[in-house]
Amino acid sequence: MSAPDPDGPVLILGGTGEARALAARLVEAGVPTLSSLAGRVQQPRLPVGEVRIGGFGGVDGLADWIVAHRVRAIVDATHPFAATITRNAASAAERTARPLLRLRRPAWTPGPGDRWDRVADMADAAAAVRARTAANPRVFVTTGRQDVGVFADIDDAWFLIRVVDPPTGALPAHHRVLRSRGPHDLESERTILRDNGIDILVTKNSGGDLTHAKLVAAAELEVAVIMVDRSVEPVVGDAVSTVDEALAWLAGSQPSWWRGV
Ligand code: NAP
Repeated sequence: MSAPDPDGPVLILGGTGEARALAARLVEAGVPTLSSLAGRVQQPRLPVGEVRIGGFGGVDGLADWIVAHRVRAIVDATHPFAATITRNAASAAERTARPLLRLRRPAWTPGPGDRWDRVADMADAAAAVRARTAANPRVFVTTGRQDVGVFADIDDAWFLIRVVDPPTGALPAHHRVLRSRGPHDLESERTILRDNGIDILVTKNSGGDLTHAKLVAAAELEVAVIMVDRSVEPVVGDAVSTVDEALAWLAGSQPSWWRGV
């Protein structure tokens, strides 16, 4: 396996605000940078600099791509719930002997006013909703369009499903799809919860500021929260939680080429 090329690009696995911020800082500093997006969203917010879009074809495809593009280091800045690409990045980094950094924003933690029912995954989130269906609850689902099918067979609840692009699979009998892209401010989140008479908010523990306002609004209005926890990630390479820390890691792990940011 070839060694990392000191003149090759930093590969940022993206799809998050942190990935875009990191790309902007590296490009501004003149560091060769290549951002990768999965291509899930029809009109993605593109990072500055060079961007490629689409899957690599599993670990083999990613490892081949890293070698072919002379990647010098990999920053996995994907969403905390994008578990497959994070596993693939860890395996491909090991196989290609590239330095790997996981940039993952911290999880939210409940404050004094929060009423969270913590669940392990989306299937358990649906089970938690089913457990409350005696009262025909009104449920606000903010977990994205990919897993929303877990609620499809719940007939005695109403769902408000907030997504960027429309879901393609089965949906529950009683629902409304609300197409909207964050960030969402506190006042608009309060309005959504109040106007729709929401009883339960279902959210992934994505962390970060951009989508936190719904939790503040839920606590204020005493809306129950079903919080899907993050899964355990592979321990390969280093891990940080901020863009500044990622820049410091790049400077430290790649001192021979680093020009300072
Ligand atoms: P995933 O389940 O972990 O990955 C599924 C497959 O999608 C991967 O095996 C890979 O395909 C491809 N892929 C994922 N991220 C990629 C990237 N940055 N560049 C190239 N290929 C990528 O991922 P996901 O949960 O569907 O998320 C897809 C993207 O949306 C990620 O980039 C993530 O940062 C972003 N996102 C996800 C969520 C979420 O809740 N999951 C929320 C916001 C944003 P191959 O195996 O063919 O390489």
